[in-house]
Order: sequence, then C-alpha cells, then structure tokens
Amino acid sequence: MLLDRPVSPSSFLGFRFPMALRPSILFPLFAKVTTLPGIGPRLVKLVEKLAGENVVNLLWHLPSGVLDRRFSPKVGDAPAGKIATLIVDVLAHAPAPPRSKVPYRITCGDETGKITLVFFHGRLDYLEEALPVGEQRVVSGKVEVFDSRRQMNHPDHIVPVAQIDSVKRVEPVYPMTEGLSPKVLEKSIRAALAKTSDLPEWFDPAYLARQQWPSWHDALRAVHAPGGEEDLLPSHPARARLAFDELLSNQLALMLVRLKARKRRGRSLVGDGILRGKVKAALPYALTGAQSRALEEIFADMVSKNRMLRLLQGDVGSGKTIVALMAMLAAVEAGSQAALMAPTEILAQQHLETLKPLCAAAGVRVEVLTGRVKGAARNAILEDIAAGHINIVVGTHALFQKDIAFHDLAFAVIDEQHRFGVHQRLELAAKGDGTDVLVMTATPIPRTLTLTAYGDMDVSRLDEKPPGRMPVDTRLINLERLDEIVDAVTRAVAKGGKIYWVCPLVEESELIDLAAAEERHAHLKQILGSKVALIHGKMKPAEKDAAMDSFTSADGAQVLVATTVIEVGVDVPDATIMVIEHAERFGLAQLHQLRGRIGRGGKSGTCLLLYAGPLTETAKSRLNILRDTEDGFIIAEEDLRLRGGGEVLGTRQSGLPEFKIADLMVHGELLAAARDDAKLIIARDANLESSRGEALRTLLYLFEQDDAVRTLRSG
Ligand code: ADP
Ligand code: MG
Repeated sequence: MLLDRPVSPSSFLGFRFPMALRPSILFPLFAKVTTLPGIGPRLVKLVEKLAGENVVNLLWHLPSGVLDRRFSPKVGDAPAGKIATLIVDVLAHAPAPPRSKVPYRITCGDETGKITLVFFHGRLDYLEEALPVGEQRVVSGKVEVFDSRRQMNHPDHIVPVAQIDSVKRVEPVYPMTEGLSPKVLEKSIRAALAKTSDLPEWFDPAYLARQQWPSWHDALRAVHAPGGEEDLLPSHPARARLAFDELLSNQLALMLVRLKARKRRGRSLVGDGILRGKVKAALPYALTGAQSRALEEIFADMVSKNRMLRLLQGDVGSGKTIVALMAMLAAVEAGSQAALMAPTEILAQQHLETLKPLCAAAGVRVEVLTGRVKGAARNAILEDIAAGHINIVVGTHALFQKDIAFHDLAFAVIDEQHRFGVHQRLELAAKGDGTDVLVMTATPIPRTLTLTAYGDMDVSRLDEKPPGRMPVDTRLINLERLDEIVDAVTRAVAKGGKIYWVCPLVEESELIDLAAAEERHAHLKQILGSKVALIHGKMKPAEKDAAMDSFTSADGAQVLVATTVIEVGVDVPDATIMVIEHAERFGLAQLHQLRGRIGRGGKSGTCLLLYAGPLTETAKSRLNILRDTEDGFIIAEEDLRLRGGGEVLGTRQSGLPEFKIADLMVHGELLAAARDDAKLIIARDANLESSRGEALRTLLYLFEQDDAVRTLRSG
C-alpha cells in the first residue's frame, strides 16, 4: 500500500504552452458566474460548489427531474397528494400566537371550497404582503388533506393572478446544494441561458438531419425546459446532441494530442538483446504469455521511427515492473538512457529495490532520484545522469524538473496511480528528443472508459497473472463484529502473520481520516503492543520509511494501520490478511487494488471487508462482486454497470475524464460514433482549417479542451 500523497502530474517538466485564443463568441460563457444578475458574494460560493465558477458550468447543470404545475383545478376538486396551481381568494389570516409552536395559517378558497395555507415560522410582514386579505392570488404546491380539510404547507409559489403563466408550467428540478434555493438557482440558469447565442454548427448538416437533432442552442434551451419526465431521458434528441458534442470534443482532443505526439520526430531504438538476455537469465521465473506479448508490442514501437505512446494496463500483481525493465533495457542496449517515474517516493524506492539486483546482473547502473535525495548526493547523481553514466533513473516527478539534464533520455516509463489529462499528455510529449513513453496503470478500466481516457494511446493489456498466485478469500463482515475481528487478528499475529489494517478515506477530510487511523492504531496497540505500526500521508518521509521497514522486516511490526490516500504500491509478500474498515465507502477498484497487496508470497490471503450496516441493495451488490471475483476487469465493468460512468473508480479522485452531459452507460454508442467522426475529421482536415474545422475549434474550447487546440497552432 502506498500512502504518501500522489504528486500532481501537472507539475511535470515546467513546460508551458502559449495562451489559448478562445473565440470571442464564447467569452460570455467563460465569464464568472458573478457576472450574472443576482449572484452576490454569498450565493457565488454555493453556485460554484454546485456547478462551477463560470457561466458555462451553469449551462451544463441539467435538470434531474420535473414538477408539473399545469394542473389547475378548482379548490373543491384538488386531490390530496398532487401538485396543484390554484387561484384563490385570501379570506383570513390566523397568525401564530407569540412563542408558540403553532403555525401561521391563512384560509383561502374559491366558490367550490376552502384550503388552509400553513406556514411554520411564518413572518407576519411577509405573509401580509404576499397574501393580503380580500385579494386573489395564485398559489402552487402540494395539496394535502388533514382532518378532512384541505391544506397546503408552504406553497412553492405565491403570485398575483396576472403572473399565473410564470407558475402554471412544467418546472425543471435541478440537483441542489444546501443553502441554495431552487428558485434562485433556476433564475441563475435562466440568466446563463440568456447569455448564449447560437454557435456555428460543427456537425455535418446531413448528419444532424439524419439524427433529428436540434442545433446546439436549441438543444441547450430544450434541456433546460423539459416538457415532462420523458424529456429527461438521455436518449432525448436535445440531451443526445449535447452528449455527442461532449464526446466528440473528448475524442477529437485525444486524437489531436496523439497526432502531435506522433508528428514529433521519434527515433528508432534497436538493441542487441544482450542486456535483456542477461536479466532474463537472472529471473527466477519465466515471463508469462501476456508479458511476452506486451513486450513484443513495446519493442515494435521502439524500433519504429514513430514516437511511442503506449498504455500498459494490468491488474495489481500482473507483473508490470519486469515488463518496464525489459523495455528500459532495450533502450539502454541502444546506447540511451531510460527513466521510470513513480507517483510517490515510497514506490520509487520500491521500484529501485526490485530493479537493482536485476540491473546488477546485467551490469546496468540504476539510481533513484526523488525529492529526498539532497545536497552532495543529489549533485553527484545529477552529474552522472548528465554524463550518461547512469543508465536507468528511477524517481518521482522530481525527475522532470528543469535542473535535470539527461545525457540522452530515449525512453520514459510512467507508473501512474493518477491519470493524465490531455494537458499532461502534451507536456510529456514535449519532453526529451522524441522520447518514447510507456504509461503503466494498475487500475483496470472498462473499455468505454479506456477509450475516453486513453483514446490517444495504444494499449497493451496484461490479462494473465503470473503463476503460483494464491486465491484471496474475501468476506463481508458487519463492523458490529469488530471485537471478533480483533480477536482473529490477535491469533494471526501470534502465528507470525502480517496484517494490513486500512482505515477509510473520508471524503475531503484527511484530518478525519487521520484521527480514525490514529484511534484504531491506539486501540490495537493496547492489545498487541509494539506489534502495531501506523503509516499515513502526513508523516515525514523518514517516519514512513521506519514504519514500512518495520512492517517488511521479519521481526518488526506485524500489523500496519494505514490510511489510504492511494492504494497501490508496496510489496510485502508475507502479508496475508487485509482488514478494510468501512469498505462501503471505497470504490470497488480501490478495494480491488488493496486486496491485490495480499496473497503474494505463495500463501493464500484473507480480505475482510468491514461495513457499517445497513447496506443499500446496490452497496451490497457491489461488495458481493468483490467477494465473488478477483478479475479486475470484471470488477471494473460491473462497477460501471452498477454505478454509472461518472462514479466509477471514484472518478473525481482518479482523474478520469468526467463528463458533464454524456453518460457512458447509455451513450456508449455515441462514443463509438464520436470516435469515428473524430477520425474522419482528422483524416480530412487535421488542422481544423475548413469552416467546419473552425466550428470544431469552438466546440473544443466550449468543452475546455484548449490544450488540444493549441496543438494546431504550435504544430
Ligand atoms: P504489478 O506492478 O503489475 O502490480 P509486479 O511487477 O510488482 O506487479 O509483480 C508482482 C509480483 O509478481 C512480483 O513479486 C514479481 O516478481 C512477480 N512476477 C512478475 N512476473 C512474473 C512471472 N512471469 N512469473 C512469476 N512471478 C512473476
Ligand atoms: Mg507495480
């Protein structure tokens, strides 16, 4: 498990692109929401939290439901439980007696009957003004019957009769945040819509007609003015069009980046195989079929003159490291240097330890360079890197800082725990002189997501595990049975076992995580004494090392209590038990990654998923998937099926593209179509110079793919 913070990939290389030239037609949409009428300093925080800071973010905030206020019966005909818009005479006020809990009541009615409007904590001055006795008003809300009398608690709307049309309609219902009133939000969205005008059409008119899709502007207005529930369906033409816009911008951006990476002169790396042969001979095992296949693909990329941009996808424990090493050795054979970048220092260190003996067998020099390497030691390493005396450098993002000059970096491997956006991809492409890039990910991603996140890369999959892996017995256990778990752990410790104990990630609050982990640590320590160690992201590097060292060494700590900031990493083959508290709060992929840490050393493992009940049906199904299979790809697909695209893998944390409108569960076909369309566009007009090309540039800016547009100008 890897417990220090991932390093933001945006800090790579310090490479900057020229400023984007967003077309002026989009300026109003990229103005701050504060430019909208009625959004003051208090509201702006709420709106930003809910939707985003720009006007355009409000446009993408789509209704999730509707309220139909068109039903306008006479009072005597208004049925209980239904929303009705009533025209009533205000008959009498009955204010609440001071300091009582009784509500303020106002009797209204028409020739068919009476209805009482009920206000808890109603303000006298407001109510007298809104509902003056003797006048007619329109009130809309849910009718209820109480003691066989009609009433309406806190009508949603109270307006003079002249304004009835503003009420008697289908009202969109938006996802909300606490403290923001629906009316205010809707008003802001209306104001945002008022700032839009039609944009040049980026679709082929014939295509648009065939799909029966509206123009962008019409679609946008339509999605915010649903005429009924059916208009909320993702298949509704207006929604489908906007989803396609978004998917097309995603696919086009990825392809432009790919094109740019390809255009940069690559170099042909041809090795003689001698170093690889030596390492192969030193390995205590044979490569799996999947590893060999992936290597063939990688070597072919290296030999070719095109620049390599390849993703190596493989479950935890599928053996990516040795694949990376073999590829790096090929670069070294060709007389160049290679670098392996890990997301954290712990992982970099771990990689070094794996690689060092193998490299020694081949007479290849490998060194580590992280933020921790300082002073004279650092300078010495820097000099040797610059002189080409070091063949393989392992490190964190520090590897790509400006002061690091390679003699000849030809091959870079990025072991990522966080995913890259288009921007980072471009920065990477700008590094080195035609450096080939291999990105490794341990997160199995459903195919549709692979396409949206890595559509610009070639993909190799390690879909076969090294032999000899023992199955992990996974069990779901209610947290109420914590005492039994602690007993079981105590017995395992007595038998010499090594146990991970993971405390949950509480969203957005590392401090609370920390408190929970520290508390559990203290608790277990009372029972198990010095056998328990603690590790978390806020510890100093040396403290982390000490905790890890103790847990790895034979006579050290046997229980490692940890918070998870990220989950993949350190290899402790002896660890056989993993306890995860509040498993229901984790993403399935995350749990899967954690579980992959055990059952490695030829001993079978046990994974105890502790949950706080009661679980919802979905939560139960999700955890059951984990219990029933260890295949990461199945888990990922099922997670997608159960949760929907946006939430898979805890998308927010993972850095996978988040779609604002498109829903991969239902728009999968549109994604394929968007991909085809993007290919066609690139084939015909790769620089987006035709009039459709111009419009497509606007589309890219609209979805904030500015970086992709920049590839056009800078060539
Ligand atoms: P990943 O990085 O994909 O999670 P690793 O590269 O750390 O996986 O490999 C997991 C373990 O499997 C390591 O201990 C490694 O030595 C071992 N391993 C890798 N390839 C093979 C193989 N072909 N046969 C047996 N063991 C292997
Ligand atoms: Mg690895």
